[in-house]
Amino acid sequence: MAGRFAPSPTSDLHLGNLRTALLAWLFARSTGRGFLLRIEDLDQMRVAAADGVAQRQLADLAALGLDHDGEVVHQSDRLPLYETALSQLDVYECYCSRRDIAASAQAPHGDGHRPYRGTCRDLTAAERASRRAERPAALRVRAGGVTWTASDDLYGPVTGVVDDFVLRRGDGTYAYNLAVVVDDGTQGVDQVVRGADLLSSVPRQAWLAHRLGFTPPTYAHVPLAVGPDGRRLAKRDGAVTMSDLAGIGVGPAAVLTALAVSLGLAETGESVTPADLLGRFDPSSLPRSPWVVAPQPHHS
Ligand code: GLU
Ligand code: ZN
Repeated sequence: MAGRFAPSPTSDLHLGNLRTALLAWLFARSTGRGFLLRIEDLDQMRVAAADGVAQRQLADLAALGLDHDGEVVHQSDRLPLYETALSQLDVYECYCSRRDIAASAQAPHGDGHRPYRGTCRDLTAAERASRRAERPAALRVRAGGVTWTASDDLYGPVTGVVDDFVLRRGDGTYAYNLAVVVDDGTQGVDQVVRGADLLSSVPRQAWLAHRLGFTPPTYAHVPLAVGPDGRRLAKRDGAVTMSDLAGIGVGPAAVLTALAVSLGLAETGESVTPADLLGRFDPSSLPRSPWVVAPQPHHS
């Protein structure tokens, strides 16, 4: 049994990501689970810049005192697992461009996913042969329009129609929705704690886990961090990463305190360790609305 934190090495973790990591750690450790770290680098495939970002992400988690079990896993090292999973699924080729999808799809979900209408689902062999010459095909799973429900510890049951989502893109990259399910399933992750922006992916991922013979994990989608303008926390909000904050005199201990205060687990200025927070952690009393991060005053 394990929980996990699975950042993509696109940019340094900001306070919202760090708070999600702390929560994933608290959920896992407070229930006697292991805690795994996984670098979701399928889009970056171990380019040097991404390796640098991943190293800083791991160093930031360590500086906060969040320990983990086993080796850190990189998705870029696990392609054969995704290939095997893909071979077990009923898939079809899709030749739609991004623009085709945007034009035909419903509005994107909270996680940015655009439900697919099945344009390429029933093409004949001759049609497929001619379309294949136009562009490299993506592979989509044939989900059969199934509706699926899974349970979230904070949101309750999450129900949705599973569309024929992409498993492998036209450029050969395995899709996040496939990799995350295969990884959680094969790594023994039975508790997924992550940002609420991914809530709408739950029916899709739980269904795929079931299709691949894994027991779907329990989920807890936790509130995002936002800036004073209510938009998702970002660079424009000032000092939001550990290195920005260190630059204005806010070290890891103060960051941990700020995260704990935001979760109602510490008093302002109190010095705490993650282990201290374990005894105080109660998922049922977590804040349910986004965390509004105040601009960090400059160090005087
Ligand atoms: N790699 C994803 C991200 O950084 C998280 C995926 C997950 O936790 O399922 O947004
Ligand atoms: Zn298509």
